[in-house]
Amino acid sequence: MQLKNPALLRRQCPVAGEWIDADSGETIAVTNPATGETIATVPRMGAAETRRAIDAAKAEMRGWQRRTAKERAAVLRRWYELLLANQDDLAAILTSEQGKPLAEARGEIAYGASYIEWFAEEAKRVYGDTIPAHGTDKRIVVIRQPIGVTAAITPWNFPNAMIARKAGPALAAGCAMIVKPASQTPLSALALAALAFDAGLPPALFSVVTGAASEIGSELTGNPTVAKLSFTGSTETGKALLAQCAATVKKTSMELGGNAPFIVFDDADLDAAVDGAIASKYRNTGQTCVCANRFYIQTGVYDAFADKLAIAVAKLKVGNGVEPGINQGPLIDEKAVRKVENHIADALANGGELVLGGRRHELGHGFFEPTIVKHANARMKVAREETFGPLAALFCFETEDELIALANDTEFGLASYFYSRDIGRVWRVAEALEYGMVGINTGLISSEVAPFGGVKQSGIGREGSKYGIDDYLELKYLCIGGI
Ligand code: ADP
Repeated sequence: MQLKNPALLRRQCPVAGEWIDADSGETIAVTNPATGETIATVPRMGAAETRRAIDAAKAEMRGWQRRTAKERAAVLRRWYELLLANQDDLAAILTSEQGKPLAEARGEIAYGASYIEWFAEEAKRVYGDTIPAHGTDKRIVVIRQPIGVTAAITPWNFPNAMIARKAGPALAAGCAMIVKPASQTPLSALALAALAFDAGLPPALFSVVTGAASEIGSELTGNPTVAKLSFTGSTETGKALLAQCAATVKKTSMELGGNAPFIVFDDADLDAAVDGAIASKYRNTGQTCVCANRFYIQTGVYDAFADKLAIAVAKLKVGNGVEPGINQGPLIDEKAVRKVENHIADALANGGELVLGGRRHELGHGFFEPTIVKHANARMKVAREETFGPLAALFCFETEDELIALANDTEFGLASYFYSRDIGRVWRVAEALEYGMVGINTGLISSEVAPFGGVKQSGIGREGSKYGIDDYLELKYLCIGGI
């Protein structure tokens, strides 16, 4: 990998203000999912290093909180600028460990940086309140204070942005943060930290601990100094972490799995719906928690939509993300490939018809053919579970009422999408969908200006927007008597 700034490729972790190896000296290898090659090793840390990071964060945080919001904002703003100045290198590191095409990786760096910029601005707008008091001799003031030392556990599908989205509001609010990145993609996290320190962030305020998930996770969830955990990842792991946090009553933000419906009504603009479907389903090779998982197409346009989608999907180019023109990188690992294979086999065994793809790609490794299956039905696994891969399963529906029941028939509630040009239907359906986010006539909804998050078992809390900083603040009520 050729980098303009080789110092961004780190093999040590910033823990308690210093770049160090694991106490044990052990390492874990980071591999390129497009080639299977080892790119670098990172420390295999555990509870002891995590504890030191937490203690140092607590001590450092006092000084950070004594700075004005404007001073904190200036550091975050510089960090944002450095992220953009190093966008090419950060994207190269990201693609090499995660596999997404370089153009998407560059997009992720800009997207992650946008959260740092946004929360640099929001740092200055943490307002309080005054409340008419319950007695003439009293006054009531509400202030909002940083919650304290925070922890983030993040996934491999957005190795940069999922950290930026948490660290931005935490640091803006005056908190410290300890990050445990996914072991498949730690290099992006380490590069992010290196630039934070270049921007002037006190190093002990932001530690990155790579290594054993259960050991680091147990310390982060069990240590009473940690006031809050923000997690993005699978619902299964999220539930386990929630249970672990119960012992010390931590606040949590949980951004978990989804099972997004993508709905096309008879009156939709079909070409726009196909564009949205490609963006929503095949971005990151289907590995985002807001990816369309169940396509519900109204009977009148079912075949027409399927035909148009097949033409568009056939144009997707699979390959190593560093090569020009590629828009489908590899899946992250063998486990991910097996899940997609399993969902396709299950769909075909339950009456599905293969329209396109369906197999591992001839390139090997994690590469998979973009796939479409028609005649999907409720018996199939894809109706209930997130595939997290390039499979579009097309279900059919007749009426709006039937559709609403089908779309909401899941324990998940993250993203949903629908296409319609009937204004009455747009309102009815948008209000009836039990999801935290609804894309209407668009397949792309993520932005730092809007609240990202789910309902039901898809999560707790919101990231981004004017609401996002609330997850890192506590309300304090001051009752002033004797007036
Ligand atoms: P995925 O299946 O997409 O890899 P996970 O939820 O397993 O999603 O992983 C998301 C993040 O959670 C990763 O950083 C992973 O290392 C971490 N993780 C997984 N299991 C645990 C655990 N028991 N305790 C703490 N962190 C965990």
